[in-house]
Amino acid sequence: MSQQRMRGQPMVIMGEDAQRMKDKDAQEHNIAAARAVAESVQSTLGPKGMDKMLVSSMGSVTVTNDGVTILQEMDIDNPTAEMIVEVAETQEDEAGDGTTTAVATAGELLKQAQDLLDQDIHPTAIIRGFDLASKRAQEEIGNIAEDVDRQDEEILRKVAETSMTGKGAELNKEHLSQILVDAVQAVTVEADDGSLIPDMEFLNIETQTGRSAGDSELLTGAVIDKDPVHEDMPTDLEDADALLLDRAIEVEEAEADASLSVDSPDQLQQFIEQEEQQLREQVDKIAESGADVVFCQKGIDDMAQHYLAKEGILALRRVKKSDLQFLKEVLGGAIVSDLDTLTSEDLGRGSLDYDGDAELFYVEGEDSHGVTLLLRGSTDHVVDELERGVTDALDVVASTVSDGRVLAGGGAVEVELADRIRDYADSVEGREQLAVEAFGDALELVPRVLAENSGLDPIDTLVDLRSAHENGDTRAGLNVFTGDVVDTLDAGVVEPAHAKEQALSSATEAANLVLKIDDIIAADELSTEGDEEEGGPGGAPGGMGGGMGGMGGMGGMM
Ligand code: ADP
Ligand code: MG
Repeated sequence: MSQQRMRGQPMVIMGEDAQRMKDKDAQEHNIAAARAVAESVQSTLGPKGMDKMLVSSMGSVTVTNDGVTILQEMDIDNPTAEMIVEVAETQEDEAGDGTTTAVATAGELLKQAQDLLDQDIHPTAIIRGFDLASKRAQEEIGNIAEDVDRQDEEILRKVAETSMTGKGAELNKEHLSQILVDAVQAVTVEADDGSLIPDMEFLNIETQTGRSAGDSELLTGAVIDKDPVHEDMPTDLEDADALLLDRAIEVEEAEADASLSVDSPDQLQQFIEQEEQQLREQVDKIAESGADVVFCQKGIDDMAQHYLAKEGILALRRVKKSDLQFLKEVLGGAIVSDLDTLTSEDLGRGSLDYDGDAELFYVEGEDSHGVTLLLRGSTDHVVDELERGVTDALDVVASTVSDGRVLAGGGAVEVELADRIRDYADSVEGREQLAVEAFGDALELVPRVLAENSGLDPIDTLVDLRSAHENGDTRAGLNVFTGDVVDTLDAGVVEPAHAKEQALSSATEAANLVLKIDDIIAADELSTEGDEEEGGPGGAPGGMGGGMGGMGGMGGMM
């Protein structure tokens, strides 16, 4: 490809292996890749969605229902497909929940776009139409959303339960939703203007295996999953001064590394004494500051442990960095890196309580506003999936507390929006009109997939839902357990408005980003295998530079 022709001909300046795809080919290629990714998570949507088992190249296994986790673990290395993964990540960062919805909607928008491209509608018109429709949809969400009392625990519990339904957390959702709501309320502060702000930095999640999820609890302060480093240390402390240390209590590295030649036993003895002296000095500095307990992020030398025990100081080592940061919120004080400048001012204050059976410390600050959700489950897999479900639910509860607007779930809001967007399309001129209409149709993906995943007929369901909405039933959604059309808000299927707004805007942005590309220039070989046809579910097209080959370790499990 690197032939160079002058005189009126474009000069090709790409490498040997470089490949290029233009216009329709490029669009089709990209749309197929993006859709393949989006479709790979669809089967997890909703309460009856299935889980996926992801096996990494290192052999570690993750079983999850969480959209963003699936996409991240899939290790996708197709650039277009990665744009779709970014939709999930944006959604996770901005809203915490709704990642599957966002990604699946982006895929459906692209499917609709492909149909329009096939009818020779120019991508620019499609992009403009999608933009118009997306803006309108945001406005309509504002019109459809219902204001709720932000302190109304029942609503907040329903929001949490809706988010957890179908996840590992579901079995204990009543208990969990209560402690989640308590947790968010515990860290919510009222601003001067009366608005409520959940400050999630004051909320920490700890996990422990061995008991059931029903034994999960909300605790004031922090929970540190560590033992004392020495058995002669005190374990229960009141009004303790606490040192948060992010360096090791060990012999300084430079000296430990230096090679040493010892000629006599005396010299060896002297060397050992020097080391002990150094450790002694470090412990002395800690003792002089008045610390009763040391939370150390790194290691503590055996000899230093012994000295600390003698001083009556409790010490925990290898405390997680995030725990240390949380302890700072709970106890006050500073995170210290240098013992030479340590003073009593740097210390935090609180009480400690050791649970020897569970091997953890409960730590409370003096006027503590920090709380810890201690999640329990039988095994690592169970606890990990529980934690993912709980973090999503915490975010939507927090969002409801700060925003105060909710929507009817189970596809209700999507069907209502679709209806309104199609109405709006009539007022749009030109070919954009078709794109606006297509956007409306794409919104119906959520109820359709919810029905499909529940073993219901998606077409019948959609017909029922549409007719309910035409009769003015704004909150008519799908009861996935019975197949009936019900008022989902009344039925307790409640979603925060903010997450839906975010899902639609990031889905639209991603779809438009893919549609704007009309030229792919790849430095490496560009595989075209498989994108002659539309990439149906599982029909992942080979992409640029290895395509979705990164999913290798997953075999045919999807
Ligand atoms: P996401 O990653 O998009 O949050 P989920 O798998 O959590 O995906 O599914 C969310 C969808 O499931 C939402 O549309 C929500 O309204 C719906 N949903 C949750 N609980 C119920 C329920 N009990 N009945 C019907 N739909 C529900
Ligand atoms: Mg969810």
